[in-house]
Amino acid sequence: MKFCTKCLFPDTKPDIFFDKFNKCDACISAERKHNEKNFKKIDWSKRELEFSYLLEESLKISSKNEYDCIVPVSGGKDSIWQVYAMSKIHNLRTLAVTFDQFDQTPIGLHNLNALKEIGVDHLHFTLNPKVIRDLVYKGFEIIGDPYWVNHVGIWTVPMHIAVKFKVPLVVYGENPIFEYGGPDYSRDNMIMNKKWRQEFGGMRGIREEDMVDDNITSEDLKMLVYPKDEDIEKYQIKGIFYGHFFKWEPIKHTKFVMNNLNWKPLETAPKGSWMTQENCDMQFIDIRERIKYLKYGYGRATDQLNIAIRQGVIQRDEALKIVKNIDGEVDEENVIKFCKYLMISKEKYEEIIDSFVNQEIFYKNNENKWIPKEERY
Ligand SMILES: [Zn+2]
Repeated sequence: MKFCTKCLFPDTKPDIFFDKFNKCDACISAERKHNEKNFKKIDWSKRELEFSYLLEESLKISSKNEYDCIVPVSGGKDSIWQVYAMSKIHNLRTLAVTFDQFDQTPIGLHNLNALKEIGVDHLHFTLNPKVIRDLVYKGFEIIGDPYWVNHVGIWTVPMHIAVKFKVPLVVYGENPIFEYGGPDYSRDNMIMNKKWRQEFGGMRGIREEDMVDDNITSEDLKMLVYPKDEDIEKYQIKGIFYGHFFKWEPIKHTKFVMNNLNWKPLETAPKGSWMTQENCDMQFIDIRERIKYLKYGYGRATDQLNIAIRQGVIQRDEALKIVKNIDGEVDEENVIKFCKYLMISKEKYEEIIDSFVNQEIFYKNNENKWIPKEERY
């Protein structure tokens, strides 16, 4: 395994590109974003202007209808801040749309109240929980991601609501490819559409229709099937990334929502994570991140510390010591809850987890534990 010289990403991460100095593309994007020494600096004032042109065009369409924009909102710090930005900074008639989390936490539910503090209309959409559970199981079993259904829901349901209410603008937060790595052609992309969702939206090569089986019908999946092209075109609906136009700054968002909107972080970070301000609404985040760790050799703590390294909040060697201790950790009580939710045995759970281990980078020791073959550096 090879590691980025600036952050802690390994080259086993999917969709990551290293330059000749072994620096990863997420680090290069961060330099562009903060206008450090980089020849492809971003002209943020130009992008801001592009955003105002886009709003102008969009308002011509929405002025006849009930809402100017939709913001998909999980209740996390960034999406709450995004709702605030659209409704209070840009003064748009905003409809917040939540795709219900199957493993919502008390703190996550509390944080959705921030929408009341802001003062916006809010649609909370819950897909049939029985269908959700089947899809969580299938995502876990087939691709090692229990959150497959959430990814699809977050990228698709708000687009359906946009069609129903004829809302021309659906505003997502950061462009994940720019912030966390991915192919060159998608780093400066501002548009979220069906093609983008399929390639980068956590679908992992599975289309919604592939999930049909004896338990799940295509009728069950209708809200997860992307709206028809002709409807999107008819109402001139655009899905965009706000982070393309304005510098995406999670630390500022956190401070703002905590100080102004009574938003609360977790009391302690989930196992396998370093931060208390992220994934506050995902009870089983440690399980997903455990699988990621066993597939690619890095977990949630790496993602979080990488951002801190790029912002100069922590040194790489100090962060490396931390990730070695916490990446891939899982809360055993949470595993029991997860098995209970899916109605599977612990043995079945272990069998599924083991099926995703990359045995080129991990081996099983005498205590039946997966151990990295190489020390991270
Ligand atoms: Zn890097």
